[in-house]
Amino acid sequence: MTNRDPISQMAADVAAGNRRALARAITLVESGRADHRADALALLDTLGTDRQALRIGLSGTPGVGKSTFIESFGLMLTESGKKVAVLAVDPSSARSGGSILGDKTRMERLSRDPNAFIRPSPSQTQLGGVARRTRDAVALCEAAGYDIILIETVGVGQSETMVAQMADVFVLLLAPAGGDELQGVKRGIMEIADIILVNKADGDLKAQARRTCADYAGALRLMRKRPQDPEGFPKALTVSALETAGLAAAWETVQHLANWRKESDVWHQNRAAQASFWFHEEVRLQLMARLTEDSRLRDQMGKLEQDVTQGRISPAAAAARVILQFTGDQKR
Ligand code: GDP
Repeated sequence: MTNRDPISQMAADVAAGNRRALARAITLVESGRADHRADALALLDTLGTDRQALRIGLSGTPGVGKSTFIESFGLMLTESGKKVAVLAVDPSSARSGGSILGDKTRMERLSRDPNAFIRPSPSQTQLGGVARRTRDAVALCEAAGYDIILIETVGVGQSETMVAQMADVFVLLLAPAGGDELQGVKRGIMEIADIILVNKADGDLKAQARRTCADYAGALRLMRKRPQDPEGFPKALTVSALETAGLAAAWETVQHLANWRKESDVWHQNRAAQASFWFHEEVRLQLMARLTEDSRLRDQMGKLEQDVTQGRISPAAAAARVILQFTGDQKR
């Protein structure tokens, strides 16, 4: 098969589990060039969506132990014969707390594991763009036969919501804390977390980690139980990524929830709702791109923005003018 076109060849290589082909395919979907985008869409289309991985979203503030956890948890999974991919959504695009998300040097042993694939966050400033590319990368990793995809993010802005919209199970990693710090965790993130893991439950921090875990378990119980969850969820557990303690229990908990959701069809409903969410996001994103690629419209938007900020016109009326201009231009 030497006369295949490059995209079919790339699709065949990715589907065969070739890691270099997967890396190149992700570079392709990350590209902003229009011709690359067309190729990327053709590639994703050729690969299809027959293979499904377990997608685990993982969020936590810098320093909480995400990379240590991913390394220990990932190695535990690969040792049990699973293929693990690690992707990242980093809204700050470059640095957060001194560490680049998905940076291989943060997960040295895992990055050398032939059954693991680690990809840092694309350097994009727009979260919409990063989310799209991560979504495409998730699809590529699934097509490449990865069993588990860990999608890492820091809890900044909308990044958690974005990751939750591409995950089957969402895990929040927390550090041991005093009671007053519990208030500091955003309510929104508590609402989307399926499993809270209080990390660093070792040495001097062990007792504090247990208390923090009990506090969060209590807080979770007070929140409305989601009808799609099995009994006892959302759940809080303690782990030590450093001492690899509690990781097997954490994995069992993730699997229990994932299996329950699969059996009760919540899994498919979730994915369908996510597909619909991303469809609307894409329409918005692509429409915005079309608007701003026209220099005249761009200028008009700049002027209208000034008018809006100075109160000469309402935001809604100004937006209506832009849309009117755009649709008028399309008809001509
Ligand atoms: P990230 O910024 O969330 O990726 O956090 P890192 O994984 O880089 O960890 C931040 C710091 O916490 C490092 O000094 C780690 O060694 C330490 N750390 C991570 N996990 C644990 C743990 O389970 N126990 C203890 N005691 N320290 C940990």
